[in-house]
Amino acid sequence: MKKRNYKEIVRELKERGYTLSMARIAILRYVMKENAHYTAEEIYKDLKHEYPTLSIATVYNTLKLLSKEGYIQQIMIDPNKVIYDSTLGVHPHFYCKICGKIEDISSDLTVSVNREMDGNRVDEVHIYVYGICKDCLRKEKEGNKGLRIN
Ligand SMILES: [Zn+2]
Ligand SMILES: [Zn+2]
Repeated sequence: MKKRNYKEIVRELKERGYTLSMARIAILRYVMKENAHYTAEEIYKDLKHEYPTLSIATVYNTLKLLSKEGYIQQIMIDPNKVIYDSTLGVHPHFYCKICGKIEDISSDLTVSVNREMDGNRVDEVHIYVYGICKDCLRKEKEGNKGLRIN
């Protein structure tokens, strides 16, 4: 799962006829960060300081364009929001039910992704794992210790 350099993507998009404003390039650069799993709102909030004229619509449009062109994928692990991920390919995601954190997990969960399954064309495969993250588990343990003192 090698990361693409954002400059390379900018060049490819320009070649395909897209016009990219400074703000759009900033969004692209943001979403291509290592291990990035962001919502449109998070990207918007962070870039708004640097690009005061930036609108949430521009963020959505740019993310839609990048998904369409196959540079990022949409992760729907959290029913309340869409996460954008620049790590491509099938990789399992973990969702913490307590703090809502989303991360890639290394696991031996493997799926053989066929282009065709039972006569249907397969475009995407997602693996979503739900549970309690290690940070929350630790906090829970520490909390229990505290209780025992009383
Ligand atoms: Zn957690
Ligand atoms: Zn991911």
